[in-house]
Amino acid sequence: MAEKYPFTIEQFYKFVSERKLMAAKCKKCGTMLLPPRPMCTKCFSSDLEWVELKNKGKLLTYTVIHVSSKQFESLIPYAVGIVKLGDGPKLPGMIQDVEPEKISVGMSLEVDFDTTIPSEWPTWPRYFFKPS
Ligand SMILES: [Zn+2]
Repeated sequence: MAEKYPFTIEQFYKFVSERKLMAAKCKKCGTMLLPPRPMCTKCFSSDLEWVELKNKGKLLTYTVIHVSSKQFESLIPYAVGIVKLGDGPKLPGMIQDVEPEKISVGMSLEVDFDTTIPSEWPTWPRYFFKPS
């Protein structure tokens, strides 16, 4: 299906606005490119396809943010973590719907979406993680 879409971060966020988490996958060696790139970073093939990622994963590491940009000030303190999605790639993102002190490495998280377009930059829809 997806080869008509460019392998860019803009396209990644267009998929997010459709509540889909997508990565570019190399058809030659299977490497997942996230953020997407027009060429495989491992074998330099440009024979890629978009694949939908699993929306569940485990938390690898996280940090709690106490000082943030204006856009997220109302959410302080909030946690940002890196989540390994199923057998797929690692993805950084905000962790919501849980108290920061209840977050622990290894916990199961799932992806959710906030498709409201913010009025200030970056004017992209967001994905975030929440306990599953
Ligand atoms: Zn490759």
